[in-house]
Amino acid sequence: MSLLTVGSVAFDKIETPFGKTDKIIGGAASYIALAASYFTKKNNLVGIVGNDFPQEMIQVFQDHDIDTKGLEIDANGKTFFWHGRYHNDMNSRDTLETQLNVLDGYEPKIPEEYQDCQFLMLGNMVPEVQMATLEKFTNRPKFVMLDTMNLWMDIAMDALKAVIAKVDCITINDSEARQLTGEYSLRKAAKTILGMGPKTLIIKKGEHGALLFQGDEIFFCPALPLEEVFDPTGAGDTFAGGFIGHLAQTNDTSFENLKRAVIYGSAMASFCVEKFGTVRIQNLSSEEIKSRVQGFVSLASFAL
Ligand code: AMP
Repeated sequence: MSLLTVGSVAFDKIETPFGKTDKIIGGAASYIALAASYFTKKNNLVGIVGNDFPQEMIQVFQDHDIDTKGLEIDANGKTFFWHGRYHNDMNSRDTLETQLNVLDGYEPKIPEEYQDCQFLMLGNMVPEVQMATLEKFTNRPKFVMLDTMNLWMDIAMDALKAVIAKVDCITINDSEARQLTGEYSLRKAAKTILGMGPKTLIIKKGEHGALLFQGDEIFFCPALPLEEVFDPTGAGDTFAGGFIGHLAQTNDTSFENLKRAVIYGSAMASFCVEKFGTVRIQNLSSEEIKSRVQGFVSLASFAL
């Protein structure tokens, strides 16, 4: 089944305790689409870049069978830029600078041939733009997933709640779940978020794994303890890409398959953090992915 990802394609400047980068390729949609490309070949990308975005990176997307017809190039603008610095624990970060550039006032255009996509991933963006994107579909996709961030809870809570009410699944990290609901207990927070509309919720806990909630069901997937973590940027998006890529590949949104999707998402995220930017997830083999997924299975399985 086909997947459409809508979100930021960016230049990022990143500082972690292990080093810094100059401008490198980033953006939520870049991570999501690249991660999903290992699962589905019907993988479409909608976003916008400026005249400074390298053609070689568009080629990298295309080499991963990502359809870039929906990636607009604004000849008069510059690509969205984000600069972040991680704290020593690598679980929290500060945004030092954001330049919206071509994202300022951007409204995604959905090419006609993407109208029949069954899986839609709304990457982290202004909630009103996520809503406008969803409203562009004549037939609502079968499974709509949304990612967001604390910034929108600070400045656009009502618009965020309005779009959350319209989607099937949301991914959010633990501190954002607490901010969104005012509940410290993640179990209570999950109940409140599921009451806002989505049937499924994923709460990401960084190096402590991810929780999947649906109705009264809960599933926990640990994060693989890694020897080297260089850069957590994009881990959440890469998780989302692996997760929804697996769902699109199997066209199965049962709870059992959502559990498998959480494992695939976690495996993809574990690769992402091993190098700066998208480098690691641009160069993966199916053998590496298989063996990493097996690592998760072994990590959490035991006999009673
Ligand atoms: P994550 O680490 O999964 O939260 O995602 C990091 C990516 O989000 C970076 O590559 C940034 O380019 C992108 N990003 C940061 N702030 C924003 C924003 N306000 N809107 C859209 N994308 C953003």
